Amino acid sequence: MRVGIGYDVHRLTENRALILGGVNIPYSLGLKGHSDADVLLHAISDALLGAAGLGDIGQHFPDTDPAYLGISSLVLLEQVREKIKTAGFLVHNVDAVIMAERPKLAPYIGEMRRKVAGALQVKVEMINIKATTTEGLGFVGQGEGIAAQAVATLAEI
Ligand code: MG
Repeated sequence: MRVGIGYDVHRLTENRALILGGVNIPYSLGLKGHSDADVLLHAISDALLGAAGLGDIGQHFPDTDPAYLGISSLVLLEQVREKIKTAGFLVHNVDAVIMAERPKLAPYIGEMRRKVAGALQVKVEMINIKATTTEGLGFVGQGEGIAAQAVATLAEI
């Protein structure tokens, strides 16, 4: 069994869609980034790559590469799954937390879990996603950005 950790932050800005866990969430602001800026999927991808000893998402999908401009992070997550498989591992489970003051994310957690499980080809029970506020504190609490943390375990094939 191998374990990895991932952490990511993106800035909230106008004129961008808010996409978290592959789900398009209605909100006045969205996350800024080269890809779709799905902060949750980036943290999960980093946790998976870390567990496999494969570095980080920036090494595999550079934000200077036009190929990844506006790309769905679900597509990147599928590619991470294949890289991990090639390295001799299968995804066992993922636990993640999104830190956001607004909007309320509870109604979307189930759909996020299904999307992540689909991309990783595991049962939805193996994907746990939580959301929390930071009680108004810091950049998350002030609504300047959204952060996400994830832990993943892999089984050796
Ligand atoms: Mg990112």
